[in-house]
Amino acid sequence: MRLCDMPLYQLSAMLDEKSISAKEIAQDVMKRIGEANATVGGYITILDEKEIMESAQKTDERIAAGARRSKIDGIPYALKDNMCTKGIRTTCSSKLLENFVPVYNATVYEHLINAGGVLVGKADMDEFAMGSANENSALSFTRNPWDTKKVAGGSSGGSSATVASGQAVFSLGSDTGGSIRLPASFCGITGFKPTYSAVPRYGVIAFASSLDQVGPLTKDIRDTAIVLDEIVKYDDKDSTSAKIATNYAQNLNNNIKGMRIGVDASLVEATDEDTKAAVLTAIEKFKEMGCKIVDLSFNHNEIMVAAYYIISSAEASSNLARFDGMTYGVRREGENVIDTYVNTRSWGFGPEVKRRIMMGTFVLSSGYYDAYYKKALQDRTLIKHNFDAAFELCDCVLSPTTIFTAYDAGKKLEHPTDAYMSDVFTPMANIAGLPAASIPCGFAKNGMPIGLQLIGNSYQEQTLLNMAYAYQQETDFHLQRPKMTGEGEKDEV
Ligand code: GLN
Repeated sequence: MRLCDMPLYQLSAMLDEKSISAKEIAQDVMKRIGEANATVGGYITILDEKEIMESAQKTDERIAAGARRSKIDGIPYALKDNMCTKGIRTTCSSKLLENFVPVYNATVYEHLINAGGVLVGKADMDEFAMGSANENSALSFTRNPWDTKKVAGGSSGGSSATVASGQAVFSLGSDTGGSIRLPASFCGITGFKPTYSAVPRYGVIAFASSLDQVGPLTKDIRDTAIVLDEIVKYDDKDSTSAKIATNYAQNLNNNIKGMRIGVDASLVEATDEDTKAAVLTAIEKFKEMGCKIVDLSFNHNEIMVAAYYIISSAEASSNLARFDGMTYGVRREGENVIDTYVNTRSWGFGPEVKRRIMMGTFVLSSGYYDAYYKKALQDRTLIKHNFDAAFELCDCVLSPTTIFTAYDAGKKLEHPTDAYMSDVFTPMANIAGLPAASIPCGFAKNGMPIGLQLIGNSYQEQTLLNMAYAYQQETDFHLQRPKMTGEGEKDEV
């Protein structure tokens, strides 16, 4: 297998053994970018080769001096383009921020710099993280490495496709209603959204502040644990940041016998035939491993997507008010200041972002606040209560990640709200602030990957990691790689 297709934990061990150098890994990732970037895409900005190689060179020097900083020292990664990177443009994939170069770093990026990671580039995304297919990107394109006619999922589609195609070894994405888990599921990789407040949001451009969380996209759950150990850290610049002691990689174990897994059968029933079969097989696998299945019956399934879109749009309408051409990004001058606002925002925001701002402003307006926003907040309380009750009975909740596998690009663009229905299973974890993972659990008949979602109780990241680890020890779905067609390479694993 080529270096660029290997998981982080393996490359890290090889660096420690000195059987490869960080420069060799970076070179192979750069080579893969050359092969895959035209078909899969996935990046908005790729750093200069010289800069990337210099960063890898520094790791090699540290290794030679016996001073490797962490397990991600020397590992090439991608950052979703909504995380501020000093001196490197950060666009949120919006025309409005096309030229925005931050003057400070997001705390998560700062952590990865300190750990010695090698930043390769800024990953493509749906504009301002609004979307489920990465088709709302105003600045780049991203397709599914398993079939480039199909979507990669969104909104962290670039973070997902780059990892799945070996253009990065791991990445960070953000998840407001499923944006890490959905593309991870569509691209056949592992995605993890931590508990709300576990990862600092300082310097991450806000979509919906009460729901947003940053998390890793990786090829293996061991990689996830390694990355989480670097980014789950208290930050006094984020007023919602929690103080949590972590040692996820060290504590990873596959002893899950006796764990109780809650399953709402109606969620499994709601999916397409292939997804249903794969998820039912996964449930059997967990039973074989000694887990007990607990029947759940949530009464929030019908209202959850509506509650999510109301709350997230309301918060977005307020968060995005700052993009008026005055402080950040592009300005389109008008006759007076109001005209300048109008010109800038009319020109700079894409249709989906405008839709969300209008929806958010509407649900917050005095005549409709009680009917929509207040009601959605009540639903949020109900969903939280339901999970509190569920965690009295079980240790984690299992469901499919998505209702269907990746679909043809362009298919859902005509009726934008159709795409909202991609998010049937994921936003409940954000609404309740819970940690949730998506791990590969099979392939559909057409060859597209299927994902399994595990949701844990607050701050029970380790439980989820162990469940996923035990599952990945017993299955090989996460070991499959899409065939990359570049220079006649054979990339079968
Ligand atoms: N697909 C959802 C949306 O469009 C989730 C986005 C996200 O998690 N950032 O809002």
